[in-house]
Amino acid sequence: MTVVEEKGSGEYRSRVREWLAANVPPPTAGLPPADYLRVAKEYQAALFAAGFAGITWPKEVGGQGLGPAEQQVFAEEAAELDLPTYPLLIGMGMCGPTLVDLGTPEQKQRYLPPLLRGDEVWCQLFSEPGAGSDVASLQTRAERTDDGWVLNGQKVWTTNAQWADYGAVLARTDPDQVKHAGITMFILDMHAPGVTVRPLRDMSGKSPFNEVYLDDVHLPADAVIGEVGRGWQAAVTMLGHERVSIGASRPSRSSALGFEAVLALARREGATADPAQRERLAELYAHERALELLNARMRQETQAGHPPGARGSVAKLAAAVQLRRAIAVAGELAGADVVAWDPEDGHGADLARGINSAPASSIAGGTNEVQHNIIGERILGLPKEPQVDRDVPFRQLRVGTQGGAR
Ligand SMILES: Cc1cc2nc3c(=O)[nH]c(=O)nc-3n(C[C@H](O)[C@H](O)[C@H](O)COP(=O)(O)OP(=O)(O)OC[C@H]3O[C@@H](n4cnc5c(N)ncnc54)[C@H](O)[C@@H]3O)c2cc1C
Repeated sequence: MTVVEEKGSGEYRSRVREWLAANVPPPTAGLPPADYLRVAKEYQAALFAAGFAGITWPKEVGGQGLGPAEQQVFAEEAAELDLPTYPLLIGMGMCGPTLVDLGTPEQKQRYLPPLLRGDEVWCQLFSEPGAGSDVASLQTRAERTDDGWVLNGQKVWTTNAQWADYGAVLARTDPDQVKHAGITMFILDMHAPGVTVRPLRDMSGKSPFNEVYLDDVHLPADAVIGEVGRGWQAAVTMLGHERVSIGASRPSRSSALGFEAVLALARREGATADPAQRERLAELYAHERALELLNARMRQETQAGHPPGARGSVAKLAAAVQLRRAIAVAGELAGADVVAWDPEDGHGADLARGINSAPASSIAGGTNEVQHNIIGERILGLPKEPQVDRDVPFRQLRVGTQGGAR
């Protein structure tokens, strides 16, 4: 597979570059959350109006219907910039692509255009207190009613739920099936009665994720994504998009842990003449570049009809490992400034925030250990871990927060 030449100077690249130069919003650091969300929605709306939203999504749902080359050109040009994409990341990178793959024509028409225009925010409700790495142990349940389903349970670590209008939720619809079989994915209206969102704070002081309580929430019959009982397959589809999306969102070159920022730090610390530091910087650059090319290749393969499947785990794992590598190099260069930075020095604060937030990348979207398992079993063909619960009806399992038969 040929990788599109990064420094190509096609007409599309010029158009992207010119548009970004004129439309990048001012820095959002320090903005109150509501203002940050507003800026993010306005940026997405501007992208849509300019014909840069959903570059590879089908035209009939408001996408641009273009190919991997254009997507890659945009990603390369945007990598240099600090763009307010975070609030819409889960919709654009995970829920939207899953609806493109599995949604009914009505679902695509209803949900994808507002997502592309930045009108509606999405979240992903998979994890529960007793179901993280082993998501198929989930206990949130949806039971049939005359006009749809009623949803009860609790989700956790739900990124952006505080802003979300809709979510993709996994629920158990048949506890008499084995644990991977009796699950269904639904579209959840986050403003529906019975949905309660409570923020959780992480060690960087921010609240990027939430607990979500679901008490007798009504789901209409047409809220099912894919097929009833095939939620695990829908989840695998979404997790594939998620791993590529997270892998692709490695620190932009302008972020505190991107190569350019670490190089600038080395220059400020007068460390670039030291052969040992030069070697570490060169290693950092080589890995960052390899990751960019890996992501570029996966985007191209996806567009050519070969979704990466389990190989998305390679990109996801590589991005998390690269962040740790960057922390090691930057931490040694900055020394005590990492924990006691000069408040006047914007670089120090950025670096400290980046380092505090970075461990999450080894957990979110599946931990590094889980990615190693996936790569070992599904790509390298190593023997599977023994699993004693795969063939037992879910109702008989002792899982999560409840034990024994129910
Ligand atoms: C920043 C952030 C954002 C998140 N956003 C979302 C979101 O929007 N929606 C959502 O649904 N979830 C979200 N999550 C949750 C995330 O998917 C889970 O935290 C993750 O899957 C791990 O699950 P857990 O926390 O329950 O840990 P556990 O599964 O309990 O794992 C604990 C430890 O055991 C290890 N482990 C578990 N199983 C194995 C195994 N088979 N082999 C080897 N080691 C194993 C893990 O690697 C880990 O070190 C988010 C998490 C973070 C940190």
